[in-house]
Amino acid sequence: MCLLPMGSARCGGLLVASNVEDPESVFWDAVIVGAGAGGAAAGYALAKRGRSVLFIEKGKDPHTDSSVVKGECLPSDSPPAHRVDYGLCPCLPEPKLLGGGRFSPFTMGCGTGGSTAVFGMVMERFRPNDFTPGLFSSGCSGSSAPGEWPVSYDEMVPYYEEAERLFRIRGTQDPLAPPNSVALLPPPLETATERNMAAVLSQAGLHPYRIHSACERVPNCTGCVRKLCHLNCRKDSGKILVRPAVEQYGANILSECSVQRLVERSRVVTHAICNWRNREVSVRGRLFVLAANAFFTPALLLKSISAHFPDGLGNSSGLVGRNLMLHLSDVFLAQSKTSPAHIEFDMSHGLAFNDLYSRNGVKLGNIHAHPDKQPVFATILEDLPYYFNKVSVDSGRVSYEYHFPRELRYRHGVFVEEFARRVSESWNLRPLRPLGLPNMTHACGTCALGRDAKSSVVHPSGRMHDLDNIYLVDSSWFPSSGGINPSLTIIANALRVCAQLV
Ligand SMILES: Cc1cc2nc3c(=O)[nH]c(=O)nc-3n(C[C@H](O)[C@H](O)[C@H](O)COP(=O)(O)OP(=O)(O)OC[C@H]3O[C@@H](n4cnc5c(N)ncnc54)[C@H](O)[C@@H]3O)c2cc1C
Repeated sequence: MCLLPMGSARCGGLLVASNVEDPESVFWDAVIVGAGAGGAAAGYALAKRGRSVLFIEKGKDPHTDSSVVKGECLPSDSPPAHRVDYGLCPCLPEPKLLGGGRFSPFTMGCGTGGSTAVFGMVMERFRPNDFTPGLFSSGCSGSSAPGEWPVSYDEMVPYYEEAERLFRIRGTQDPLAPPNSVALLPPPLETATERNMAAVLSQAGLHPYRIHSACERVPNCTGCVRKLCHLNCRKDSGKILVRPAVEQYGANILSECSVQRLVERSRVVTHAICNWRNREVSVRGRLFVLAANAFFTPALLLKSISAHFPDGLGNSSGLVGRNLMLHLSDVFLAQSKTSPAHIEFDMSHGLAFNDLYSRNGVKLGNIHAHPDKQPVFATILEDLPYYFNKVSVDSGRVSYEYHFPRELRYRHGVFVEEFARRVSESWNLRPLRPLGLPNMTHACGTCALGRDAKSSVVHPSGRMHDLDNIYLVDSSWFPSSGGINPSLTIIANALRVCAQLV
């Protein structure tokens, strides 16, 4: 493999990206589609190993583009085109509801760092039993969840460790999880509020720990979920992976460039046809890594039709876009039955517990509280893959269909009741929004990983079964969704795929 793209030059250790003015003139070792959680990790891992890497990213680069707005939420009356200035996706996929149910209004990141540029910074490992959905009765009927993932928890551990080190994760050991072999960094000092909340949970027989977070608290940090960080506290994939890939390892980035379709010949993708600031460019590469997220990666494949693949690139299984999963998340205010409401409330870091992760053979999920002005808990309930839940493309428009499976409603009821029952001596739980809304920001599973090319889209190595030079590293590879925040697992897997690929 060539180490530098043609026409590039080194200057004081940095790769001068003059070639990006003419991306068509270079034959890249790796073209990465999307610079979010998975794409950033893949580009970082490949550039660090000396490969010439081009990130192609639809949004702007908050680190270099002064038109990007940081520290402020998007005004509610903004036209869609302005969303990209706030690091948000200008054009969201359209929902099609089946069999009732409601969706929360949702957003996703767009720009260097992808959704991690606006995320809540919780970065936790999946639990070993997430890798064996077949152990749970809820995984058996009707869903396409495999008995076990083709990658085990133990195989992921070295890459979880690498991701935790890179993102400088702070928190304490979850007493119910396997011990971390590499210690997490200490969280900020526990406040009286956090001590009291942890005491209530412990008295209820639960096992709280301090949440695993990629936040470097600085004065005036408010967590900034859904807005770009202006205080340098959020460790997102742009800052932790793309910047070093570009500044230390010579990677290049084409911002405001959207890949429209991929051109294939004899199982090999030769070009990505892109719209780069209203100019069509055709980018060539030895290897293409797809990381546009669980909506836009399958959409790109479905749009890339060839004689070989009339139903979409890499879609001989008919499963590209199928098995869409969304966590169900509730948000509760914990109202104390004993302390006066006006008591001063101050959280420095956040806490979580996993006592209800699974119960009586049924899989539920994680419960956590972010730093907030009041005691607010969020739940994450595992969703399972079903063939009928899917992303599709009609006349170029990306849409999705989601049908709430009955077993998910049942597990949701168990989860909410059990949480309320366990803390009922001390707290009333008041829902802050309608119960049981899908967490669209955790979409995953639309190009599932598996050993069998008939029942999955991506090989355990990360390569698509049908193609020789396309790898897929965003959240679309998940065979089941786990019951915990996904970004650490997306990043760890991208590091795994690229380490083995090299
Ligand atoms: C508000 C919010 C809060 C969240 N909080 C947490 C949290 O606390 N913890 C956690 O673990 N997870 C959280 N998540 C979810 C997490 O951020 C995502 O699961 C994760 O980033 C998904 O990674 P990905 O690689 O699949 O895609 P993304 O990170 O979304 O990256 C995809 C990138 O591809 C780009 N792209 C799309 N199409 C194209 C194209 N055609 N051409 C070029 N580029 C393209 C997009 O612009 C985007 O930058 C949150 C998400 C949001 C939106």
